[in-house]
Amino acid sequence: MSDIRKNPTLPSALYVVATPIGNREDLTYRAKAVLASVDCILAEDTRVTGHLLSEMGIKTRLISFNAHSEEGKSHRVIEALESGQAIALVSDAGTPGISDPGRLVVAACLQQGLSVVPVPGVSALATAISVSGLPAAPSHFFGFLPAKGGAREQSLTDSLAMPGTVIFYEAPHRIVDLAKRLDERALGRVVVFARELTKTFEQIVCVDAGQCERWCVENPDRIRGEFVVLVGPNSEPGGKLDLDSDRLLRVLARELPPSRAAAVAAELTGQSKRALYRRLTDVPPE
Ligand code: SAM
Repeated sequence: MSDIRKNPTLPSALYVVATPIGNREDLTYRAKAVLASVDCILAEDTRVTGHLLSEMGIKTRLISFNAHSEEGKSHRVIEALESGQAIALVSDAGTPGISDPGRLVVAACLQQGLSVVPVPGVSALATAISVSGLPAAPSHFFGFLPAKGGAREQSLTDSLAMPGTVIFYEAPHRIVDLAKRLDERALGRVVVFARELTKTFEQIVCVDAGQCERWCVENPDRIRGEFVVLVGPNSEPGGKLDLDSDRLLRVLARELPPSRAAAVAAELTGQSKRALYRRLTDVPPE
């Protein structure tokens, strides 16, 4: 971050610049102008941003700034801003700070009273909501769930208990796992898979929970690429459905082993899994 100003007409600030998530034409005119004019660009991956800049003929200096270095480098960013520089912050794709580095340096700048200027554009989050057909308000964004184990299950349970639409980012190698969990935990709700947004194989589908895993595995192409997964609101107050539990058990038992059928019925009706299992297997109560 040198002291020589590249473009003294651009006010000193941290410019938080959104870049495309697929289609390069989604880069805004303003983003392009800012990237060309700032003194340097903080980039999550300098090679990724380097390709974008070279396509546009922009030669602004790139500085690596990622999740590992953000905390350590933020004070140098502050010093450079205090010396009057204009600095852009970008991530590999989409809007910085949304499941991407940026939050810490933005918070540090605001605390120091330094200007932070948004240069908005694409985010997979807003893009997916806009084509989901699901309510945007209320909605709850959880980013990436923990990768595995009890933390994943607990976070999913907590998120599905929220009113309104629930939104996740998910990696392709975990999408079937998430689909399976939603089949069990989100019955009665709709799930929208927004895949490869703005790219050649873009796909937006609405699947009833209970059918998500089947939808994913029916065609191996469906689990390729990047995903936003949106779960529609639970229409029942308190999250439990007023169902005929005997009928529900009979229907579920046609598709699932008794213990799974009992677990799903318990989730849906709020009744005891043990009692439902007994009813299904005709085990007399103790
Ligand atoms: N900050 C970015 C934004 O605002 O979109 C998101 C970065 S996060 C590290 C990357 C995740 O965003 C992917 O794993 C996927 O869940 C989602 N994502 C990014 N691009 C996408 C696309 N083209 N289609 C669907 N989801 C996408």
